[in-house]
Amino acid sequence: MARYTGPVCRLCRREQVKLFLKGEKCFVKCILEKRPVPPGPARSRRRRTKLSEYAVRLREKQKLRYMAGVLEGHFQRLVRRATRVPGQTGQALLRFLDCRLDQVVRRVGLATSPKAARQLIAHGHVSVNRRRVHSPSYEVRPGDVVGLSPSMRENAGVQLSLQMAEKRSGCPAWLAWDPKTLEAKVLRHPSREESAFPIDEHLIVEYYSKD
Ligand code: SF4
Repeated sequence: MARYTGPVCRLCRREQVKLFLKGEKCFVKCILEKRPVPPGPARSRRRRTKLSEYAVRLREKQKLRYMAGVLEGHFQRLVRRATRVPGQTGQALLRFLDCRLDQVVRRVGLATSPKAARQLIAHGHVSVNRRRVHSPSYEVRPGDVVGLSPSMRENAGVQLSLQMAEKRSGCPAWLAWDPKTLEAKVLRHPSREESAFPIDEHLIVEYYSKD
């Protein structure tokens, strides 16, 4: 599977916003805070003070894509699917992304970063309804129970991640987290306010409606 393998802090510097792609490091040692300049040679950093309307929409789309860890082709398929769903396209798109298994694993605190969440799933440590799932893009539905394999329950990385999640924000209301069994039940779809992505989804819909 193709994926971005470059430095993730570069993506934050490119967008000039914290995308929280490195887990705990983003809170204690953020590169963007240390070097708040776009990547590349100094000459190319002299940006236009005002972005075009197209560029504003493009940047918003890229931000969401980076935060969700989704490649362009898959993202386009999700947008097309969202247009077929009754209701607002942007909100449907965010719902699809919020319900991805890697996002759920991160939201409940089993992993601090998107990369760690994907790794946990790809290595077969995460189950849905007691069946192992290897695909980070698996979409959970209301009623599903997401669990961790017994071999990972005492894992130091997972335990640290759970402590950090508790300290930061805890589990969102659309997921019922049981700290004893390390299982999360999906109660319902997340609302717009509960989305993990602080972006303007209307700009993204407008970006794709240009075609
Ligand atoms: Fe982005 Fe985190 Fe790197 Fe800061 S530390 S630039 S938030 S990935």
